[in-house]
Amino acid sequence: AREWHLVSRPHGWPEPENFALREVAVPEPGEGQILVRNIHLSVDPYMRGRMNDAASYVPAYQLDRPMEGGAVGEVVASRSEAFAVGDHVLHGLGWREYALVDAGAAAKVDPELAPLSTYLGVLGMPGLTAYAGLLRVASFQEGDAVFVSGAAGAVGSQVGQIAKLKGASRVIGSAGSDEKVRLLVEEYGFDAAFNYKKGPVAEQLREAAPDGIDVYFDNVGGEHLEAAIDALKQHGRITVCGMISQYNATEPSPGPRNLVSVIGKRLRIQGMIVRDHYDLQPQFVKEVSQWIRSGELIYRETVEHGIDSMRDAFLGMLRGENIGKMIVTLDA
Ligand code: NDP
Repeated sequence: AREWHLVSRPHGWPEPENFALREVAVPEPGEGQILVRNIHLSVDPYMRGRMNDAASYVPAYQLDRPMEGGAVGEVVASRSEAFAVGDHVLHGLGWREYALVDAGAAAKVDPELAPLSTYLGVLGMPGLTAYAGLLRVASFQEGDAVFVSGAAGAVGSQVGQIAKLKGASRVIGSAGSDEKVRLLVEEYGFDAAFNYKKGPVAEQLREAAPDGIDVYFDNVGGEHLEAAIDALKQHGRITVCGMISQYNATEPSPGPRNLVSVIGKRLRIQGMIVRDHYDLQPQFVKEVSQWIRSGELIYRETVEHGIDSMRDAFLGMLRGENIGKMIVTLDA
């Protein structure tokens, strides 16, 4: 079986040489463990942070050890009463073909209820991030005008659609290609969208939201955050979910130059970590799966095939090559 190891820590943008695909023996489960054949593997932006040797809210990847991440697979051997061979499970030992998982660290998922890959995306961690980040962290109210960056990605595309479904007065998104912008407006029902690579974000946002915004859902940071502070109305709220424009930076980047207006506008800027919001999980799954069934919420996935492709899928996601959730599928 093969697994990806981090073999050196990236400085700035990760390079292919920072990773190695290594052959290892398929392990045998000990008491209370299951052996999982992974089927879908997740690549996510937060993994870039785990490649640094720095204290964070998740531990750093260790060098010459298998990397970790969300995965869905099939139990092929079990020494736990909680799981039978053939069960499908969600767990945290991705980046490998076979995972030896402690029973307590795996959750059963049902392939009859939803395609297995959705437990990594629209019905999984990124989906809950969108749901909790908008409805709870940003205190979204019906009638709010909402701006979301990274809007064609896994989290962003769901933020915009949930805002529309919950009665936003206007939803604006930004993304990094004309194709993504078209998708936001024509398929996801955003009221306006723009390509942030084509001109200053502040100008494009002013044009897209001439009356201002009440909520900014930040996936990107930097220039986007500054533009949003300008566009926010009195008592506006910002959910700081991610700042992907800074994950590969080698120097600390300057903060928004207009931060002083947080005072006069009485803005609230609130960071979030999805882990704190799993109490909303049942409600989130119920509501979002209904919207998916009724066709009111749509989702895309960009799927790469084979364990060999995983490093490039991760690097491609950082460059914006994905539409919706980036998934690596291991065909049986
Ligand atoms: P996405 O599916 O959105 O993929 C990442 C996207 O980021 C790319 O497709 C690319 O799209 C965009 N991007 C890359 N570089 C830049 C840049 N310099 N400026 C603007 N956009 C850029 O990933 P996720 O939906 O999984 O994650 C979105 C954000 O949410 C990330 O910041 C992530 O860290 C954060 N997050 C936070 C969580 C939390 O608990 N706080 C949990 C989950 C996610 P484009 O073509 O538009 O540039």
